[in-house]
Amino acid sequence: MNAPADLPVAQRTAVDRQSTVANALLEILPSASVLWKPADTRPYECDGLSMFRQLPMVVVLPETEAQIVAILRICSRLEVPVVARGAGTSLSGGSMPHGEGVLLGLARLNRIVSLDPLARTAVVQPGVRNLAISEAAAPHGLYYAPDPSSQIACSIGGNVAENSGGVHCLKYGLTVHNVLRVRGLTMSGEPVDFGSEAPDCPGLDLLALVIGSEGMLAVVTEVTVRLIPKPQLARVIMASFDDVETAGDAVAAIISAGIIPAGLEMMDRQATRMVEPFAKAGYDLDAAAILLCESDGTPDEVADEIAHMEAVLGAAGAKRLVVSQDEKERLVYWAGRKNAFPAAGRVSPDYYCMDGTIPKKRLGEMLKAIQAMEDKYRLRCPNVFHAGDGNLHPLILFDANDADELQRAEAFGAEILELCVALGGTITGEHGVGVEKIDQMCVQFAAPELAAFHGIKRAFDPARLLNPDKGIPSLHRCAEFGHLHVHHGALPHPDLPRF
Ligand SMILES: Cc1cc2nc3c(=O)[nH]c(=O)nc-3n(C[C@H](O)[C@H](O)[C@H](O)COP(=O)(O)OP(=O)(O)OC[C@H]3O[C@@H](n4cnc5c(N)ncnc54)[C@H](O)[C@@H]3O)c2cc1C
Repeated sequence: MNAPADLPVAQRTAVDRQSTVANALLEILPSASVLWKPADTRPYECDGLSMFRQLPMVVVLPETEAQIVAILRICSRLEVPVVARGAGTSLSGGSMPHGEGVLLGLARLNRIVSLDPLARTAVVQPGVRNLAISEAAAPHGLYYAPDPSSQIACSIGGNVAENSGGVHCLKYGLTVHNVLRVRGLTMSGEPVDFGSEAPDCPGLDLLALVIGSEGMLAVVTEVTVRLIPKPQLARVIMASFDDVETAGDAVAAIISAGIIPAGLEMMDRQATRMVEPFAKAGYDLDAAAILLCESDGTPDEVADEIAHMEAVLGAAGAKRLVVSQDEKERLVYWAGRKNAFPAAGRVSPDYYCMDGTIPKKRLGEMLKAIQAMEDKYRLRCPNVFHAGDGNLHPLILFDANDADELQRAEAFGAEILELCVALGGTITGEHGVGVEKIDQMCVQFAAPELAAFHGIKRAFDPARLLNPDKGIPSLHRCAEFGHLHVHHGALPHPDLPRF
């Protein structure tokens, strides 16, 4: 590709730069793996957070780790930012492209390299879909436990980058608890191993550092996951409540009774009424809120635990308890919960999915505050929760074509996140910071903590080329946002980048 001779200088600079990068990449990749025309790059302009969009300069679609090494070396040499992308389902703008950068699509690295039923592990490439791992393990009676609602599409590379969770993570842990080893490449193309297949790897725990690092430290090229045996039986209780605060308190009652359900989810009436016409899950539409409370294990264990949970939920004020009678009914209950986000897409042109966490005992208080915010911002907000983890997913419904509604939706979301912090919680449970919550990082963390994060980023990526301007705000940005906390007299490091 060459820049047309009659282009204005400003545009010529951008086009020349694009052609330099694309031509360098075409030397190491087949032409079908390098895209730069807007018609070809448009599908990559956003992820699941579609309110933020940016066309990438170039998209590359490698098929091997050797090709990724070569791409990273070229981009390092030309000082071009790189954003890794799995399936593009991030809800925080984590895989939103950089306008002057290369979007590194990893979906073609989708091979299960090996599966060892005796060791109960699988080694997979980063583009393998989450659900595909459990499908491959199923003939051995095994599965991969973390189950984001997007599991049919999202990739294990994205799961590692976001430390993704799901409805069954209360009992079985998040991605970080189910991954043994990650192989990656630094921005300069150097291989780096995090963790090990043997337990208790010596040295600092860099595995926990890379999991949840949102594609800012390394490009994940191979993941070793832990597989666990499928439980013999699972049953779920649907518990109905007359008000959301009582339902919130029932969650705390279950946990304090010493029960760790296999899943403990909550939906308010707006959410059940939004989901039911779409998913036909059989939810109680009169209840102000329902809880879905699952038990799994041997038939005896499940019978005992279901009886215990029914007693606790009844004592906590549940008005109706229905227990799934067979596997089909159990899956239908979960299908409703897992389809809550697509259901929001049916009733509203756009939805903004929040992801804060709060201490479980403050769920009721939080829900009341969200109800008041609905009036303040004049927008509807159905609520679904990973209630057992205190992880909220308020879904703010709005129309992005209406500038005023868009602004109100953003302000509504920011107020929810800042209240999460005020209640002793965090701004993200599982969706990551990305571009979405970057300003709220200034509310959550003080200057010395942010400076430490920048120090780690610099150690892996001194030129700040890997997914730059995401995840960690600069102290200058926080100062502009009006939230720069400097604890204990500590001052920002003078070398901090001014981006
Ligand atoms: C309908 C819906 C339901 C969802 N439900 C859940 C849920 O229940 N729980 C949950 O946790 N999330 C959920 N999500 C969010 C999303 O699916 C997860 O964050 C998922 O892990 C993203 O995976 P991905 O492959 O789509 O990653 P992408 O969106 O492509 O990327 C996400 C981040 O990972 C980085 N990345 C991707 N691949 C790599 C790699 N190989 N190396 C380095 N960095 C990489 C990107 O740079 C970006 O920062 C949901 C999303 C949707 C749309």
